[in-house]
Amino acid sequence: MVLGDQLDRHGGVLKDAAPQQDAILMVESRALLKAGPIHAQKATLFMAAMRHLAQALEAEGFTVHYLPHDHEAANDFGAAAAATLKTYGYARLHLMDPNDRGVSGLIQAATEAAGATFVPHASDRFMTDDATFDRWAHGKKTLRMEGFYRVVRKQTGLLMEADGTPEGGQFNFDQANRERPPKDRTPPEAVGFEPDEITAGVIREVQAWDHAWGDAAPFRWPVTRAQALEVLAHFCEDRLADFGRYQDAMLTDQPLMWHSLLSVPLNMGLLHPREVVDAAIAERGRRAGTDREIPLNSLEGFVRQVIGWREFMHHVDRVRGAELRQENHLEAQQPLPPAYWTGETDLNCLKTSLAHVRERGYAHHIERLMVLGNIGQLAGVQPEALLDWFMATHVDALDWVMVPNVMGMSQYADGGRMTSKPYAAGANYIHKMSDACASCRFDPKGKGDDACPLTDWYWAFIDRHDARLQGNPRMGVIRSAWQKRDEGVKDQVRERAAVTLQAFTDGTL
Ligand SMILES: Cc1cc2nc3c(=O)[nH]c(=O)nc-3n(C[C@H](O)[C@H](O)[C@H](O)COP(=O)(O)OP(=O)(O)OC[C@H]3O[C@@H](n4cnc5c(N)ncnc54)[C@H](O)[C@@H]3O)c2cc1C
Repeated sequence: MVLGDQLDRHGGVLKDAAPQQDAILMVESRALLKAGPIHAQKATLFMAAMRHLAQALEAEGFTVHYLPHDHEAANDFGAAAAATLKTYGYARLHLMDPNDRGVSGLIQAATEAAGATFVPHASDRFMTDDATFDRWAHGKKTLRMEGFYRVVRKQTGLLMEADGTPEGGQFNFDQANRERPPKDRTPPEAVGFEPDEITAGVIREVQAWDHAWGDAAPFRWPVTRAQALEVLAHFCEDRLADFGRYQDAMLTDQPLMWHSLLSVPLNMGLLHPREVVDAAIAERGRRAGTDREIPLNSLEGFVRQVIGWREFMHHVDRVRGAELRQENHLEAQQPLPPAYWTGETDLNCLKTSLAHVRERGYAHHIERLMVLGNIGQLAGVQPEALLDWFMATHVDALDWVMVPNVMGMSQYADGGRMTSKPYAAGANYIHKMSDACASCRFDPKGKGDDACPLTDWYWAFIDRHDARLQGNPRMGVIRSAWQKRDEGVKDQVRERAAVTLQAFTDGTL
């Protein structure tokens, strides 16, 4: 059985599969595609990529049992496995350990209930093993990516000198990766792919779904390994050199900036994280000594995202995901404001990021963290409501990576067990790192009626959570700045924030 995020022809259970001895089961699970709202491009992406692999396997001579979403047994993976095993009388079902928790148990139970043997295969989708992470995490109350990243750097030897020191004398060059958005440069055009017959067929199907959000076309995502390799090559050639410096910057008319767009092929199994970092490192080597050198801060910044953040999030989800999903340290109880679905809001930064998501199911990291996530957090939105929205609307969203990113990193729902402080910011940050304020009806520096509400929301957030943030050394300066304010001024901020937050929740701001 091959799941939609295990599409590596030469990995997982397909590694040793042979047409004479194995049949392949692939399922477009209705539980994933049709149970609630889903971005049309996300549904198209998974269905098109799965159908391409199924066709390639058939061409190799495999019998492929492909259950499309409207097949009566495609309700969920368990139902599909049980029905296929019974119908064809297979004795065994092989499955690579799925990235998402709970899926393996569901399929195993269905397999055994159908009288067949479940044969689990270890996952080959990550670079680090469970034991390495568990040894490092043992006894730690808080888990910080940076510590684990250093373990991975040393273990793999990536960007390390022969004497065991990090290349360039430090592990992390993040301080060089916070430049403001450039005024005079535009990122290179991203590589995109014209839908072929298979993908065009999926697009037509999805366009008829009432529950799909956004449009399936124009669709440009990679759906085969060959296309995924093109995205990787393009990134190394055209974007990697400037990836670092503009990593945190946002431009309203540049939804992709210098980001790699590799989360899609990585998460679907079309690329392996190891080959991605190897390609980036090799590119820097090739260009050394030329006038197109790749700065170390760019390469290290990218490598850290993949072998640091991505691996770290995988393990955090594995060991803590089930409880993390339920947590709500800040006791945020507001419903998701309608703007997240309608895109209608006067906050230009949010409006722009929402338009980016609607267009292709993608917003880059800083838009997710400092706009979409930050504004939800300031507005006191229930973390799980935000999680559901992110899951439905982002093409690269899978449970294992969304849960720690939304609940842990973005919403502080775990009370800081993986981040040292909430990622909360007011208008100043957005104004500094984006051009959205220039065409917004609100003024990020304003004091009167045109003042950006984010500033009041930020201070109201600090006020609301003062007791919870007490004792956090990274929040000390900001808390004392708030506490020193005149009581009358504080009341005005609270009142203004209450009014504008209500309007935002009601859908009138
Ligand atoms: C609220 C929120 C939700 C997110 N949801 C997802 C998600 O559903 N799926 C997902 O893959 N990433 C998610 N991320 C992490 C990150 O934003 C995306 O991986 C990234 O934006 C994908 O675009 P890219 O490939 O152009 O990334 P780049 O900026 O080019 O980064 C390179 C690669 O590093 C990896 N990476 C970087 N940061 C993270 C991270 N925090 N967690 C895991 N991998 C990381 C990704 O594989 C990415 O492709 C989320 C982050 C936040 C704050």
